[in-house]
Amino acid sequence: GGDEAVEIRTESVTTADGTPIEVAANVGAAADLDAAVDAGADGIGLFRTEFLFLDRAEPPDEDTQYEAYREALAAFPDGRVVVRTLDVGGDKPVDYLRTPAEANPFLGERGIRRSLGVDADHFETQLRALLRAAAADSGGQLSVMLPLVATVEEVIEAREAMASVAADLDAAGEAYAIPAFGAMIETPAAALLAEELVAHVDFLSLGTNDLAQYVMAAERGNHRVAALADPRQPAVLRAIHGTVAAAEGSDAWVGVCGEMAGDPGLTALLVGLGIRELSAAPAAVPRVKRAVTEVRDTEARDLAERALSAATREDVEEAIRESRP
Ligand code: PEP
Ligand code: MG
Repeated sequence: GGDEAVEIRTESVTTADGTPIEVAANVGAAADLDAAVDAGADGIGLFRTEFLFLDRAEPPDEDTQYEAYREALAAFPDGRVVVRTLDVGGDKPVDYLRTPAEANPFLGERGIRRSLGVDADHFETQLRALLRAAAADSGGQLSVMLPLVATVEEVIEAREAMASVAADLDAAGEAYAIPAFGAMIETPAAALLAEELVAHVDFLSLGTNDLAQYVMAAERGNHRVAALADPRQPAVLRAIHGTVAAAEGSDAWVGVCGEMAGDPGLTALLVGLGIRELSAAPAAVPRVKRAVTEVRDTEARDLAERALSAATREDVEEAIRESRP
């Protein structure tokens, strides 16, 4: 059952066989930061910066953002803090950014598409705040990641924007540092191009909420198609596997920050697929940490292999059920 008290582990965890798995928290509201610390998270695997921009009449200025990123870093002096650049548009409209009404908002101008286009000025401000926060970050734990990547050019352009911000800060004599840099894998295009993307990043983080939506062409949150927009669909698992395989032999790490990372019933499967970082809602962190400690590496790999050869979601579910000790 899910109601019993689960021990809070502030220390990092390994599988029963000693494979280290980072269990981080998703932060999508101011209150989540304390909740993440209290839950014993190793760090922040997804800082959804949208919440800094919501319920306001204008965007937060550079210093306001700088303080927010500093606060997140201070909450996890020994942990990684992965900040996602602004991911608005689609299902996340913001009045003052004049996000357009689109017939298919999930297929429209959202995420990195806006940051490299209509929101380029806001993107620059956000990058300035992030690079300044990285300078004050003694542990070197700040990482920046891009949402909704679909092309290699987007990653290259965003890197160039970061380099240009660094040059500006340099010229102005302001303290800055270059954070680790990553891309979210949440479109089929990004999963298919993972090998090419890996050459340009330090890490990949699978946004399985959007990835399931786009792989399955089934809107997330629409109960009529919920059985399709499900990470246990074999097609979604194959996209995850392809991403992990693409990063093998590189220095890039691969994590999952979609909701599936918070489901302890899927922990063994994700570890078996080669995922080494899981980022979940703070409330799910203790249960996921416990689930990690119960994973046997060989069984997890066998489970992943079986799930990858499954033809149906039902077959995947059966494999998961049968692998439980
Ligand atoms: C995702 O799509 O899985 C994700 C983590 O990003 P968001 O839920 O904020 O779109
Ligand atoms: Mg997403």
